[in-house]
Amino acid sequence: MALLKIDHDKCVGCEACIDACPFGALSMVDGLLEVSEACTACGACLLSCPMHALNLLKEREAEVAIDLTAYSGVWVWVEQFRGEVGGIPLEMLGQGRKLADQRGVALTACVLGHKVEHIAEKAISCGADRVFHVDDPTLEAYRTGPYSKVLVDLVLEHKPEALILGASSRGRDLAGSVASILHTGLTADCTGLEIDTETGLLLQTRPAFGGNIMAAIVCPYHRPQMATMRQHVAQMPVPDPGRRGQIVPVKAVLTEADIATRVIDSILEKDEVSLADARIIVSGGGGVGGAEGFKTIRLLADVLGGAVGASRSAVDRGWIPYAHQVGQTGRTVRPDLYIACGISGQIQHLAGMKTSRVIVAVNKDPQAPIFGVADYGIVGDLFEVVPELAEQFRKKLEKK
Ligand SMILES: Cc1cc2nc3c(=O)[nH]c(=O)nc-3n(C[C@H](O)[C@H](O)[C@H](O)COP(=O)(O)OP(=O)(O)OC[C@H]3O[C@@H](n4cnc5c(N)ncnc54)[C@H](O)[C@@H]3O)c2cc1C
Repeated sequence: MALLKIDHDKCVGCEACIDACPFGALSMVDGLLEVSEACTACGACLLSCPMHALNLLKEREAEVAIDLTAYSGVWVWVEQFRGEVGGIPLEMLGQGRKLADQRGVALTACVLGHKVEHIAEKAISCGADRVFHVDDPTLEAYRTGPYSKVLVDLVLEHKPEALILGASSRGRDLAGSVASILHTGLTADCTGLEIDTETGLLLQTRPAFGGNIMAAIVCPYHRPQMATMRQHVAQMPVPDPGRRGQIVPVKAVLTEADIATRVIDSILEKDEVSLADARIIVSGGGGVGGAEGFKTIRLLADVLGGAVGASRSAVDRGWIPYAHQVGQTGRTVRPDLYIACGISGQIQHLAGMKTSRVIVAVNKDPQAPIFGVADYGIVGDLFEVVPELAEQFRKKLEKK
């Protein structure tokens, strides 16, 4: 069925839409615009038409809407690595629990791996009502193909309305693969997820247009509604070991021979930055003045046993690697203590650290916006203030 409605009374035959269609689905036949089966309803032609003569068919929405009622429940993929579960999947369980409660449905966790029963139990204690526990040697190390197949099979059989994954490297990879196999929408790197109280749809919030607006994205016609969510934007649930739930063992229909990729060797990269899990972060910005200036920032970070962060201004100038960047296009962090030194506090930086428990700002400009979010502000030259702070903390912490 063609997916486009042409209003021939409005169409003036300018052919702008024919050029705009990436699928060659539009043509003029005897002076009248026609659409072929090649139309995917991508909408490119709608914007090109100066006469507003083109619309997507409403029938299509209704046709798909019938199927939507078969989908229910919120699902979370619980990522594990070498049998251990990090912070981000637990945050996803906390977020999933909230969404499931808002929708009045069950929360299901998907635990894939080998010998990871303990993670299935942890998922229950962190809010899941049910866990699909898929134990198979082929799932021991993460590989896109087998993980996608198992998750897609589960979705096709049980039909969840929403599937949430943490925006880790593996989560981003798996989500893209699963969404494209299922032909559903995916919003990557969300900074907020909530339920629209009127429609029941998942409102997926993420920065758009270079971070200049926050877009709330919905997926009205396809299921499941899929999103990956950044670390540290959702609250970590408090585990309740007494919580009861159902663990459903699932057999993976996989053999090593079916899988195109082989794990030959795995080398664990030493994460020297580990911003994501640091409880204390001392960050430097443009005010640090150069790579050398970061020695002062490191001094304080070392005394406090914290990690070194940076603003984009410092990273872009090559003073410190990107892995240290905090902010909208860097890491989102939520430490107990965030000390911003020589950082002005532009909105893109705040987006990555403003939920830190305690924020201390050191800046020589009393009008710097960072003071607007800081719990404690020190107006002064960081090269005087930071070494003094390091010295005072060293004494306090009885370090030599
Ligand atoms: C799409 C987009 C995405 C972005 N993403 C990010 C992001 O992820 N993270 C990020 O940080 N930025 C990001 N930015 C950039 C952001 O807008 C700011 O340009 C950047 O945060 C500025 O960094 P800064 O405050 O460290 O540097 P500057 O603007 O150079 O400010 C330096 C500050 O240091 C103070 N200062 C100078 N010398 C001293 C001193 N000796 N002692 C004490 N204070 C001193 C100054 O008063 C000033 O407040 C993004 C921008 C865009 C458009």
